[in-house]
Amino acid sequence: MRKKPKSFTFYIQVFGCQMNYVDAEIIVSTLTERGSKPLEDWSKADFIIAVSCGVRAAAEERIVSWLKKARQQNKNATIILTGCLSHRLDIEERLKEAVDYFVPIESWTTRIEGILPQQGCANPDFYQIHGAHESSFQAYLPVTTGCNNFCSYCVVPYARGREKSVAPERIVNEAKQLIKKGYKEIYLLGQNVNSYRGIDRKGQGWNFSRLLRTIDKIPGRFWIRFISSHPKDISNEFIETLAACDKVSANLHLPIQSGSNRILKLMNRHYTRQEYLKLIGKIKKTFPKVVLSTDIIVGFPGETERDFQDSLKVVKKVGYEMLFALKYSPRPQTTALRLKDSVPAPVKIARQRELDATWKKIAQAKNQRFIGKTITILVDRVKIKNTGGQAKTYILGKSFENKDVQAEIKPGSNKDLVGHWAEIIIHDASALALRGLVQP
Ligand code: SAH
Ligand code: SF4
Repeated sequence: MRKKPKSFTFYIQVFGCQMNYVDAEIIVSTLTERGSKPLEDWSKADFIIAVSCGVRAAAEERIVSWLKKARQQNKNATIILTGCLSHRLDIEERLKEAVDYFVPIESWTTRIEGILPQQGCANPDFYQIHGAHESSFQAYLPVTTGCNNFCSYCVVPYARGREKSVAPERIVNEAKQLIKKGYKEIYLLGQNVNSYRGIDRKGQGWNFSRLLRTIDKIPGRFWIRFISSHPKDISNEFIETLAACDKVSANLHLPIQSGSNRILKLMNRHYTRQEYLKLIGKIKKTFPKVVLSTDIIVGFPGETERDFQDSLKVVKKVGYEMLFALKYSPRPQTTALRLKDSVPAPVKIARQRELDATWKKIAQAKNQRFIGKTITILVDRVKIKNTGGQAKTYILGKSFENKDVQAEIKPGSNKDLVGHWAEIIIHDASALALRGLVQP
């Protein structure tokens, strides 16, 4: 008979993108199957695990100081750093006092055998392990991992390796099981979901459109979201799929990164502004209810005022309803590192602010279309806000279009709302959120 596992405790902290949440959920699976328990307080945990992000220098610094603090607060814990920063020798040097093990995701399943006190039924392929979904109604499923694009500013291909696609049956079966259990939101994740090339057991190739169509046909009431898409991979078939699949969210996040052809070329993005805009035209025509969002980097090396104005023009032309404006941050190993980080910090900040003001103005105007309408949301939280000495209770969630929605409810009436659908009559709309009342 197998010996009962001696239990141990852990505390896990995720930094960065949703892909890291997927990794964390799989890590939690590998720990709990060994009889380990998650703790909410790091000071008492036997293991402290940080799932790190290295996309920008600011995130990196935050993680470094977090780990140093973790070491001070819990001298007895075994501290493990995984994720994007765990490959980096300079990070290993900086954190040699604080961190006991640097474990890249791809070697997690084999390395932990020597680190953890208990043996698990180790599946050597990390992404074959089912994640311990933290939520009981929203689940993140990895579709692709890694990236082959080598955008000149981006560390992901170095930190996460080459792109791999998860087998289609694996994704579809997990989606089916989750939906059966009552999950209402399935997030398909990857650095470039549109370059998905899965091979099924019969040796047949699947693209992302086929994957979406198959999941869309699973019976049940649920929404499908996905992120991220690279413009160069968007096909006509995909646009038609978006329009045809009822359960696929109306939000398409299509990072443009810059509106200047000169900068796009330096970024190694493989499209021009004109090609991108043509694509947007096609998407809007075939799928008129699309809600577009994007990422734009400001202050890429050599970005002139004119280049930046090109980005601003595209934002207005496309009419993004959400935009992440990111200040360029030089990253190790990337080819852009050879270019001088020439745009001064105050200019980067000013450009970031201008982009923010621009998309918010667009979103503010466009969001008015929801006023007076009843929209469905999936409630994901309840919040109590104190305004003018009076406590008010709100439910919060996202709409099909990925809009943040909040509605005031009577105190104490929130019991069974989280994880359920709610119908909200919208009476107020800002750039960032829609507000309304729960339809009785
Ligand atoms: N694979 C996704 C993005 C992954 S990184 C895609 O191609 O869309 C998320 C975002 O971080 C990118 O879209 C980009 O805008 C930003 N980013 C990546 N590297 C950066 C850097 N060095 N400096 C600033 N922003 C960066
Ligand atoms: Fe980075 Fe470009 Fe790959 Fe996105 S597509 S992860 S920005 S290299």
